Amino acid sequence: MANKGSNFDTTVLIKGGRVVDPSQGLDLAGADVLIVDGKVAKVGAGVAVHPAAKGARVIDAAGLVVTPGLIDMHTHLRDPGFEYKEDIVSGTRAAAHGGFTTICSMPNTNPVPDNQAIVRYIRQKAAAAGYCNVYPIGAVSKGSKGEEMAEIGDMVLEGAVAFSDDGLPVWNSELMRQALTYAKPFGAPIISHSEDKSLAEGGQMHEGYWSMVLGLRGIPAAAEEVMIARDLILAELTGGHIHVAHVSTRGSVDLIRRAKERAKRVAETAAAGGHGRPFRVTAECTPNHVTLTDKAVYDSKYDTNTKVNPPLRTGDDVAALKEALADGTIDVIASDHAPHHFDEKDVEYSYAPNGLSCIEVSLALAITALVEPGVLTLPQLVDRMTTAPARVLGLKGKGSLAPGSDGDVTVLDPKARVKVDLSTWYSKGKNAPYQGFELVGQAIHTVLGGRLVMEDGVLRA
Ligand SMILES: [Zn+2]
Repeated sequence: MANKGSNFDTTVLIKGGRVVDPSQGLDLAGADVLIVDGKVAKVGAGVAVHPAAKGARVIDAAGLVVTPGLIDMHTHLRDPGFEYKEDIVSGTRAAAHGGFTTICSMPNTNPVPDNQAIVRYIRQKAAAAGYCNVYPIGAVSKGSKGEEMAEIGDMVLEGAVAFSDDGLPVWNSELMRQALTYAKPFGAPIISHSEDKSLAEGGQMHEGYWSMVLGLRGIPAAAEEVMIARDLILAELTGGHIHVAHVSTRGSVDLIRRAKERAKRVAETAAAGGHGRPFRVTAECTPNHVTLTDKAVYDSKYDTNTKVNPPLRTGDDVAALKEALADGTIDVIASDHAPHHFDEKDVEYSYAPNGLSCIEVSLALAITALVEPGVLTLPQLVDRMTTAPARVLGLKGKGSLAPGSDGDVTVLDPKARVKVDLSTWYSKGKNAPYQGFELVGQAIHTVLGGRLVMEDGVLRA
């Protein structure tokens, strides 16, 4: 029998790892992390478990890296409505397997979360499954139709942390203005799926050399950049917080970098009593867009798993994304995990839906593309995948190993060599162009609120 009433039912000691916590600027070799009752109790060398903690779990992290639980702020769980692609249980299992302890679910479901009931459904189903924290992202507009604003305030009360019509742009500028204004007092960002549909219409891949060679209709970089420019301007107009999803072009990076500099100047001027209303600009990019270029469509002989929105771009765009991740212009790495059913992708390129499944290799793709070649240090990568998304979304107790934080911890091996085998994935979506890829880095253990959810790469039943 467990000792009822004991404070130590959830005592976990992670021993002897390299503890990297960007929220505190920590990078400690051979350190321990103690979690008691679901919260981080202590971090340091030679931390001992309280003698009364009989059932304490001790995890040997020698040779491994211990970080705040990974956060993915852009995940498509497809539930409700498209459970044949993914559901909340399979998606959160896949997330835990990928090392994530917190994810945000995107609202392009059926029905869309444009009211409290759907937000509650997502949270309750995720909590019951118990594999990963899920913070829903609510729709900006009712039904994501772009006409009437959704019940943003009500959804915040139910746990929605940001708003987006992701999958679709908010094409109506006045509606975007209202949403930025309305969400601001709640501290919730509006997440921009930046795509001018009239420019992107009918496009299958990035418009450039390879689209010409392959004879596929292209999506110009401008389709993304035009919309980002508008949303940055509206953020300044309203004093709101715009978060730009899946940035993919050099032009987008330039716009965001300039807007961030401007936001900083405005904030400084306002703080000094001058004119101007502070506004906030943050951004993310996916591991896919720093791993592959538009040439992958050619190399893979039209593999529909390379079809994604925004499309894979050029090598120069990839270089710009890497610079932006390094200098902080892009705050966050987010997967944009977009599972589809096999049959949906098993069609001609032009008929295939956009999106690729990747949450189980998001960390490995990022380490391989960014840390291995020295674009980011490991602590910088950990920041972009833990502390930064928690800061963007204002998630209390997340993205940190400071005492009192939630006991969400990822133990990873940044040097593990992994050959991607889609058949081992927990996600229903096997639509990834990565089969057989040799990647570096792997999540080994995942601790969620003091519970060991994944041990040695295997999920608990
Ligand atoms: Zn999107």
